[in-house]
Amino acid sequence: MAMAVAETIGSGGELVVEAGTGVGKTYAYLVPVLLSGRRALVSTATKALQDQLFSRDIPKLVEVLNLPIRVALLKGRGSYLCTYRLSQARQSHDASLRIHAHALSKIETWSQSTRTGDLSELSGLDDRSPVISLVTSNRDNCLGSPCPHFKSCHVNLARKEAMAADVVVINHHLFFADLNVRETGMAELLPSVQAVVFDEAHQLNEIGINFLGRHISTSQLLELTRDVLGAGIQLARGLVDWTLICNVLEKSIRDLRLTAQHVRAGSRLRWAEPVPDDIETADWLTAMAQLEVALHAAQAALDTVSEMAPDFVRLHERVSLQLSALAHFQAPCEEGAVRWVELGTQMRLVESPLDISRAVQTHMLNRNPSNLALDEEIHDAKLSGIDQSQSQTTSLATKSWIFTSATLGEDDQMKWFTEPCGLTAARKLRVASPFDYELMSAIYVPKGMPKPNDFAHTRTVATWVEKYARQLGGRTLVLTTTLNAMRNIGEALTAALGQSGELEVLVQGQGPKRRLMERFREGQSQGGLGCVLVASASFWEGFDVPGEALQLVVIDKLPFPPPNDPLVEARSQRLECMGKSSFSDYSLPEAAVALKQGAGRLIRSETDQGLLVVCDPRLTGMAYGRRLMASLPPMRKIDNEADFESALVQLTKTSTTNPT
Ligand code: SF4
Repeated sequence: MAMAVAETIGSGGELVVEAGTGVGKTYAYLVPVLLSGRRALVSTATKALQDQLFSRDIPKLVEVLNLPIRVALLKGRGSYLCTYRLSQARQSHDASLRIHAHALSKIETWSQSTRTGDLSELSGLDDRSPVISLVTSNRDNCLGSPCPHFKSCHVNLARKEAMAADVVVINHHLFFADLNVRETGMAELLPSVQAVVFDEAHQLNEIGINFLGRHISTSQLLELTRDVLGAGIQLARGLVDWTLICNVLEKSIRDLRLTAQHVRAGSRLRWAEPVPDDIETADWLTAMAQLEVALHAAQAALDTVSEMAPDFVRLHERVSLQLSALAHFQAPCEEGAVRWVELGTQMRLVESPLDISRAVQTHMLNRNPSNLALDEEIHDAKLSGIDQSQSQTTSLATKSWIFTSATLGEDDQMKWFTEPCGLTAARKLRVASPFDYELMSAIYVPKGMPKPNDFAHTRTVATWVEKYARQLGGRTLVLTTTLNAMRNIGEALTAALGQSGELEVLVQGQGPKRRLMERFREGQSQGGLGCVLVASASFWEGFDVPGEALQLVVIDKLPFPPPNDPLVEARSQRLECMGKSSFSDYSLPEAAVALKQGAGRLIRSETDQGLLVVCDPRLTGMAYGRRLMASLPPMRKIDNEADFESALVQLTKTSTTNPT
């Protein structure tokens, strides 16, 4: 892998590498990148890996290789303290801020000494705390160069450091945010970079479409309303009836959310017709029209005071952007995109491309001479007040692109990754894991499990896990395909094992992922109880527990994409229109990759041993099960309960923390 990376950096072009667990992929790309002497960008999917590369892996290699290299870390603006907004929060008379007084004073003390302004330095600050949005900026509320704190602004300083560095560590969110709106500082950075590495590249497509699409959210609109009211009362009281304007605007936003009040929170509504499914046509059209009128009224009011302060200019631009987005959603959906409405406490209108292939080809590999989409973005950039010349510099002159992950598909062409990312012509390499899976692990599909759509399935899985997790003394990770199953299995295991104090049952959502993972890793080693963790979604990947703390991974069902999800449906329809099979060409590869990721939680080091259990009879009973099985590491196969029990006994015998 290191040689292939070095060759690609030397010759240019694109390289896609799937590097199985234990290959050492981080060093396999970092060493050639650092030795090349080229200016490089390394992007990861998560801030955690970003911090690990910047604070641990790169410094270690720079020291060993004795290279005079400057490295910088660049995160999204939401990770840095905005001293202007902190000062605003301090001066605010808003009574609701009083509950945050303690956290604000802690941040203020830290702000005196921090050099970077990176909030991750501040220990004890929960990254879900509402205080964070008060003391950080976003594209909407940053004042830019007219800001009184502009010179000492942490966001700007981080960007300047990145501009001066040889290697910059970023994340995929930042990369795509910049491809879309060109304001994160990467617009200047990218053209001068000669090598770009995307680690955890399997997340690129889903992260990318999130940024390349268009959105309107009622929470963003409410925040805008609050900001208009705050600035109006503070800086132009008496000139405009701000309270009236903002009350009308707020009511129109809440009325829009109420059009779907009868729909369960967490749903995604299809939006193929002019009005989203399950919403009354008249209610929807009226709410959208009222919102438009209220936004126009706010825009007109801001027009009258825009000379008074830069805050009003920025607010005027924000209102204009919302109006432009609203007009977009009142017109038909763009060709090749899909629309839906997301419902939580708030409502989000989404229009998304089906994949990132066009953006990769056009903006990253610079393969589309017409640069059509770039023109559209320059238009957007103009609307958002970003310097156009800056936007036009982003025709990327980067020479080499490296994409890597432990899981990029089920075939040698890695089509699951390369097709949606527009990288089918890239050089491809698969490096198998060096682990002896046959010796160290086995897979079992329990006999007599109900069909996955059977009402009794979840209960049976819980009973099965209870029996064997007890025998193993915990050390069990249960991965579910739905949050519902996660809750039901979690409750059943807590009642059966947790409440009696036999084992500690952890359920996703009880605390931050990092804390749950730390507790699980600890297991019985500190004299505590063995752990069972029941989780879904994000725990299928990035959950790294080497050693004896994890020896049994149980997957409830084959992870097929939900067929009624609007994005899944649109992708399936597109394939059918192309004469392909949505099941073989989309659902099955998606399930294979997710299954491989889930199974990958089991063996994390050369000495790990463990059992993978898939409680879905389709894996052995259906013809496509063979294809899914082939995508998994070459584990030993167990086909009856007695052999499974003896394998489990064997594990408990060899364990150094044997519960018996
Ligand atoms: S320039 Fe923007 S991010 Fe920086 S201090 Fe001012 S408002 Fe905050």
